[in-house]
Amino acid sequence: MSKNNMKEEISCCCHDNQTIFLDKAIKQLGLNTDQKQLLLHSFREISVQIPLKVGGGEITHTFTGYRVQHNHARGPFKGGLRYHPDVQIDEIRALAQLMTWKTALVDIPFGGAKGGISVDPSLLSIEELETLTRRFVQKMEPVLGVNEDIPAPDVNTNPQVMAWFFDEYSKTNGSVPGIVTGKPIELGGLKGRLEATGYGVAYITSLALEQINIPLKGAKVVIQGFGNVGSYAALRLQAMGASIVGISDKDGGLFDAEGIDIKAAAQFAQKTGGLKGFFEGKLISNVALLALPCDVLIPAALEGTVHCDTEADVKAKLIIEAANMPITHMADDKLRKRGVTIVPDILANAGGVIASYFEWVQNIQRFEWQRSVVQERMEEHLSRAYKDVVALAKETDVDLRTAAYQVSVSRVLRAIELRGF
Ligand code: NAD
Repeated sequence: MSKNNMKEEISCCCHDNQTIFLDKAIKQLGLNTDQKQLLLHSFREISVQIPLKVGGGEITHTFTGYRVQHNHARGPFKGGLRYHPDVQIDEIRALAQLMTWKTALVDIPFGGAKGGISVDPSLLSIEELETLTRRFVQKMEPVLGVNEDIPAPDVNTNPQVMAWFFDEYSKTNGSVPGIVTGKPIELGGLKGRLEATGYGVAYITSLALEQINIPLKGAKVVIQGFGNVGSYAALRLQAMGASIVGISDKDGGLFDAEGIDIKAAAQFAQKTGGLKGFFEGKLISNVALLALPCDVLIPAALEGTVHCDTEADVKAKLIIEAANMPITHMADDKLRKRGVTIVPDILANAGGVIASYFEWVQNIQRFEWQRSVVQERMEEHLSRAYKDVVALAKETDVDLRTAAYQVSVSRVLRAIELRGF
């Protein structure tokens, strides 16, 4: 495939993937065009301009921020906030819709939303990042609310960003910790939220491996992306007995057939901000990482990293979509035809939003949750959703993604009908 076609496939991937995956479920469920329109379109899409003096006050740059609220039939809008130079409206729209299906699948009382700012945060000072975040909150404030729309961390945002968010919102609304989730524990954050998405990915991996009769102990796992989700998934899977033979971040990957010391890698990445310079193992490119011999591949970086040019080299029998939309629909088709089992994002990485739900409940109740309860209840939600999906996939003879979408779409549609939207 030419470079241009590949770029097109990846950039189309967000909006097209959503429509194509949704269409399959709609067909299975026998829904009509009017019902499809209700499910497809966003409730509200907002973009804001944020001027900011950067480079020590020398230059004023105007950044664009977005919030897309897709559907709130089942509860307030819920979804992360990402800071990345590639952020644009189509991507945020697709990710917002994905959140609607995710919250419905794991049966928590939220709808779906997503936000982002088109910015490379590594080029800003900490003070600039704080001002940018606070101005974003000021401009979005009218559409946010603890019963309206509750953001959370995503790519390149973290508990500190959520703390600024909470503080800025609280200046005009009183102290409202439930306005965002993923906060530091000292400000009403939930014990176990930071690691919840990665731990949930590990738990789902264990269920899926059992399903395809591969023992978790000794299973060879490759993980692309070593941020919040990838690193905690790796730590947990290693603790559960899996062998993590490949890891990577935006600067490249590492391979060690004997298994990488993930604790050491995580400590190194936390200190330095990435894996660059962590010398253990063999250095490889991110493309080569996808082709490593392994049982499980866990893409935990960005959208569209597994596409038509990389799909053919994938040797894993199981792919767990820890990132949102990491596989283009074309690659998805080919992988499934080759017999690769794919656990879709809306199931695989839902541990984070489940823990966010517990944090929101904790903030509303002003009553602290214990870490062990968080983990146990998160696994209960994931296990129920996993069983629902596997049972429906068997019953209707479809892949796991189509089954997952069917479960979600039916629940959202029922709420829409009951409320009379
Ligand atoms: P993060 O910013 O903490 O980490 C992203 C990681 O991916 C970093 O290690 C970065 O270096 C790496 N990366 C970026 N581009 C890459 C590339 N081209 N190749 C390889 N690695 C690359 O982000 P995160 O919070 O871990 O999110 C990762 C994915 O998981 C995203 O798709 C996000 O939407 C999804 N997700 C996150 C959460 C959450 O709670 N944080 C919840 C659900 C889904």
